[in-house]
Amino acid sequence: MKQICVVGVGYVGLVTAACFADLGNRVIALDVNEEKINGLKQGKLPIYEPGLKELVDHNVQSQRLTFTTSYAESLDGTEFVFIAVGTPMGVDGEADLHYLEAAARDVAENMTGPLVIINKSTVPVGTGDWVADIVRRYQKRAIPFSVVSCPEFLREGSAIGDFMQPYRTVLGSLSPEAAEKVAQLHLPLRSPIVITDLRTAEMIKYASNAFLATKISFINEIANICEALGADVKEVAIGMGYDARIGKQFLDAGIGYGGSCFPKDVKALAYMALEKGRHPQLLYAVMEINDDRREMAVEYIKEMVGDLQGKVIGLLGLSFKPNTDDMRDAPSITIAQKLQAAGAIVRAYDPVAMNVAQTLLPGVEMMPDPYTLAQGCDALAVLTGWNEFMQLDKPRLRDLMSQPILYDGRNIYEPDEMAKCGFIYRGVGRGTPSIDLKNSVESSVNPPAE
Ligand code: NAD
Repeated sequence: MKQICVVGVGYVGLVTAACFADLGNRVIALDVNEEKINGLKQGKLPIYEPGLKELVDHNVQSQRLTFTTSYAESLDGTEFVFIAVGTPMGVDGEADLHYLEAAARDVAENMTGPLVIINKSTVPVGTGDWVADIVRRYQKRAIPFSVVSCPEFLREGSAIGDFMQPYRTVLGSLSPEAAEKVAQLHLPLRSPIVITDLRTAEMIKYASNAFLATKISFINEIANICEALGADVKEVAIGMGYDARIGKQFLDAGIGYGGSCFPKDVKALAYMALEKGRHPQLLYAVMEINDDRREMAVEYIKEMVGDLQGKVIGLLGLSFKPNTDDMRDAPSITIAQKLQAAGAIVRAYDPVAMNVAQTLLPGVEMMPDPYTLAQGCDALAVLTGWNEFMQLDKPRLRDLMSQPILYDGRNIYEPDEMAKCGFIYRGVGRGTPSIDLKNSVESSVNPPAE
């Protein structure tokens, strides 16, 4: 049984701690946030993540998982320290490393024996070397240690599955022995393990997130063109996705990416490039397209409803994606604020994110269910593709509204079906061929008999 300390008990740290405990290790999860740790000690999870509560409870009961705020307590007898603290966006788009700096310093000051320090946070290329410098500087005596980069690729909403069955595990270190030890910890996951140097491992994380964000902005660009030309982006994406070189995932047109990772990671990568005199023009385009999506959502709602002054708009979904309560950089925040600025009365319903959202959106009234939300609305806007929204009773929704207008920012409904239900419906990139275009295509395929 290995003893592991996980520093930072957030979305990544709590999942990492619970999963490593479940794999049979003894895990001490440490956070500087006392309220969070006290809650966890009483079985209260700080976040919503499917399956996590059960996994945490089970491993706490089996005494493999404990929580603390004390570095001294958690490093005693520990061989591996995973650092999973936040690395938010700094003022100029760079990654803000002050949480990481504090964590590295506290680890250094409290270590009592040899350690492998593994960085799970997403950090700029070169940070592993910087962490090693901090540890050397703050150690009370010279104790051997190694730094390994092990970037995390889990997705909120499917975090446990992603952690337990990753596409790959990336390990970067200047010490092959340390990388090998961390690889051994990951062997039960049976995933491909890529062992490389520190900087390359750090870059793999940024390159991966930037690529996925690029896919989203790409399909959103195609959605704009589809609208103009009368093609349906949802079917375009299906037709493209069968090609293994392209793949099906991350081809959902909509109101764009948000959350705690893509926006900040694309920006941080562009910042790193710029600092070294490179011109990251593709990354700029990805960000510009994504910013436009939120603006366009409000414009489309305006086009459908008319003057927004005094109009009641109901938001279906607030979290940045389904199956999480994470509201960090959620498109819903920008969209709600822009609607309010245009004079609309904004209400919302989300299955799990309303508590978190309420503090971020003080003027938005939170409703207990989608039907209460719809009551008296001039328009509904789907902003998160929660499964439960797909099964709503549409005629009932329509009858409750003042006007049956629905903007579907996640393309969860079908235009024909919504029209049949009596909705004035608009999705994203779902152009309908005009009659003229249809006729001319049909006549060129089937020329009239002479
Ligand atoms: P988070 O904000 O949910 O959690 C960070 C935790 O670290 C907080 O609980 C905070 O109190 C704690 N913390 C801060 N300073 C500390 C210190 N000095 N000592 C101990 N604890 C400290 O963050 P997150 O979403 O889990 O992200 C963590 C890192 O993982 C980030 O770099 C992020 O980019 C990366 N990442 C996140 C995801 C994701 O889906 N959230 C996925 C992959 C990678």
